[in-house]
Amino acid sequence: MTSPAATHLDVHGREPDGVWSAPGRVNLIGEHTDYNGGLALPIALPHRTVAAASARSDEVLRLHSVQAGETVEVSLSDVGPGVPEGWTAYVAGVLWALREDGFAVRGMDVTVDSEVPLGAGLSSSAALECAVGAAASDLFGLDLLDGDVARARLAAACVRAENEVAGAATGGMDQSASLLCREGSALLLDCRSGGTEHVPFDLAAHGLVLLVTDTRAAHALNDGQYEERRRACERAADELGVGTLREVPVGGLGSALDRLSGDELRRRTRHVVTEIARVEEAVAALRAGDLEEVGRLFAASHASLRDDYEVSCEELDVSVDAALSAGALGARMTGGGFGGSSIALVPEGSVAAAEESVRAAFAERGWTAPRCFAVTAGPPAARDA
Ligand code: ADP
Ligand code: MG
Repeated sequence: MTSPAATHLDVHGREPDGVWSAPGRVNLIGEHTDYNGGLALPIALPHRTVAAASARSDEVLRLHSVQAGETVEVSLSDVGPGVPEGWTAYVAGVLWALREDGFAVRGMDVTVDSEVPLGAGLSSSAALECAVGAAASDLFGLDLLDGDVARARLAAACVRAENEVAGAATGGMDQSASLLCREGSALLLDCRSGGTEHVPFDLAAHGLVLLVTDTRAAHALNDGQYEERRRACERAADELGVGTLREVPVGGLGSALDRLSGDELRRRTRHVVTEIARVEEAVAALRAGDLEEVGRLFAASHASLRDDYEVSCEELDVSVDAALSAGALGARMTGGGFGGSSIALVPEGSVAAAEESVRAAFAERGWTAPRCFAVTAGPPAARDA
């Protein structure tokens, strides 16, 4: 990555006032639970999106992205639901949301560069929002990086940017992970209460590695399918007379399933309720240092997402099976599904074999070569310079 400050000078003709960055994330377990008021357990990736920025005294946002390969100007007063379109929605949307929240923000020159692969289910969108949100917080004196309460408020603005301006109906896990995670820990996120806890996640101490595979499978169906799953969960909650599926205890799952109107709703509900229970079990296992159990929970989560929730795809299934056959303790798809990435819990000595196994399985099928990388739990969004 060329220095973002140098690119900024080149593109905007002046030095940035500062440089901020925010991480992508992988969710260890707890998939499609956030919009059900459930639990999720992401870590921040070591991969980050960097934003060099300078404040302007007018209302203009002048935005450059190395990945998009373009510079775009937007007037802050034009920003709102659906405007602008494309990648700038994620940036302009954050400033719009902060203004809606009563903060005095003005225009900015921004230069973005990213190590987070775009569209790989590793949350480049939240990394972009949170890097820009961090910049805006400091440039306009909003103090939204000072402590977890302030950071949660910034995360909420980033969620609004994504939901309302970019028009992507996602839950709040990605932005919370990018702003609230800590190095060496996973973030237990309670999407009903908004509460968070930090759970030790130091695989090296156990001789293990978390291997991420970006399958590079296009997830064209993602949008409509995601909406459809959300609606199914709402319908199931309605039929059960609860606000969200979080209210269904795993011990009462059998009787809840008996009361639902069809097989599809039953399978969707079974995924959500058992997945929330698996997050609780995974947290207990991590705290107890029982990584074998974490591996088993990964495998159970994948099977539930594949068979009951039906959001996996061939590439994800093949990457998971290939990692398991090469000695992984457990593996699962991560993120929304229909493409994107999988994760595997792999003994240090088997990492090369696991990567090779995944690569070979993809090559055999004539698929685009996947990208594999080992990750640790990185730090949250911060000012870098
Ligand atoms: P994910 O968040 O899993 O990477 P999304 O579809 O949610 O996938 O977000 C990807 C979109 O976010 C891209 O298509 C682009 O519009 C925007 N984006 C993310 N990072 C950047 C970047 N560095 N430069 C420009 N656009 C970006
Ligand atoms: Mg995203």
